[in-house]
Amino acid sequence: MHPRGDSVPQPPGDPVVVDADALAALFLALGGRGYTVVGPTVRDGAIVLAELASAAELPFGWGAETGAGRYRLRERSDTAAFGHSAGPQSWKSVLHPARARLWSADRAAGRVTAGEAAAPPRYALLGVRPCDMRAIGILDQVLTGGRQADPVYRGRRDGAFVVAVECTEPGATCFCASMGCGPGVESGFDLAMTELADAAGHRFVVRAGTPAGADVLADVPSRAADEAVIRRAGAAVDEAASRMGRGMPADGLADLLAGSRESPHWDDVAARCLTCGNCTMVCPTCFCTTTEDVTDLSGEHAERWRVWDSCYSLDFSYLHGGSVRTSGQSRYRQWISHKLSTWHDQFGSSGCVGCGRCIAWCPAGIDITQEVAALAGLRDAEKAAQEKAAQQKGQER
Ligand code: SF4
Ligand code: SF4
Repeated sequence: MHPRGDSVPQPPGDPVVVDADALAALFLALGGRGYTVVGPTVRDGAIVLAELASAAELPFGWGAETGAGRYRLRERSDTAAFGHSAGPQSWKSVLHPARARLWSADRAAGRVTAGEAAAPPRYALLGVRPCDMRAIGILDQVLTGGRQADPVYRGRRDGAFVVAVECTEPGATCFCASMGCGPGVESGFDLAMTELADAAGHRFVVRAGTPAGADVLADVPSRAADEAVIRRAGAAVDEAASRMGRGMPADGLADLLAGSRESPHWDDVAARCLTCGNCTMVCPTCFCTTTEDVTDLSGEHAERWRVWDSCYSLDFSYLHGGSVRTSGQSRYRQWISHKLSTWHDQFGSSGCVGCGRCIAWCPAGIDITQEVAALAGLRDAEKAAQEKAAQQKGQER
């Protein structure tokens, strides 16, 4: 075991074992380097992401039950801190906040003051799931990969320290394995942890992915990980892949959506969809925003804010005197087609990482995996009918 502060930083990749009690030292190490730790905690009947003052605020012993339109906390039979699937928030809410002041202006002083991008916070993101690691990678590409990087996102992202936690407890709405986004994590983290809470104790197998991660890990009491514990951690992650509650077809989604533009299924979805936009708010990759200008009543002070927007709002597609997408069916079709099809054209990957949040937090219980299955079923039935008709025509000749 390395007592805090006297060990040589581990080269990235060397795994060690950290006991759950030593999470307090991890908080101290991060705090000492100027990071504000953000991680999961229990609040208002859910596991949410919040600034944490200590390891004691982590959701030890809590899990979550999810289903279509359903999310409930449940007590676990062990003390796991990360034994829960995705909650209502993703890391988007930390790195790309729902509201950000872009600037403010005071008439009397003749002064314009820079907004939140001028002094970004330094966050340590504790407990980032593999699906959410992939989602952050997508946001990196969208918000910083082009010619116009988003200054608020870039400031927060550049300063962030990332502690990934591999998934050993998928939920009933999870399907990251079928999207190739989990449950293990390979890159993009400063530290990666796999939690084990069993008869041998509550501990984490931890590996550093960057020199900064190795530097922090050197301040946390640890011991070398032997073959047995590394195998045990790997098996827990492999087993999680086999326990995903849902799955998505691996291939052909982009073509399926592109070919389903006129599908009768959109009417069926529209009869259920409330166009509330919840699915876009909870989705870790939905990034659209709009701007709002506000002034005080005297007109002396004005502010410009950037706020999340949603392709489900009528104003979202407002162009030259009217909205382009006025019906519920066109808005749902736009959302799912962008996620699974045109995102490939735009960014070279799927826009869905299989976190399952849109399923759990849809008040109508609309399930993206089931809607895809329904579209595929209709396409296959139509194809079969066409083949049968062609066959009959051939026989009649
Ligand atoms: S699919 Fe569900 S969450 Fe999304 S807009 Fe429709 S009702 Fe709301
Ligand atoms: S579309 Fe749904 S399952 Fe896919 S990343 Fe967004 S919230 Fe998660």
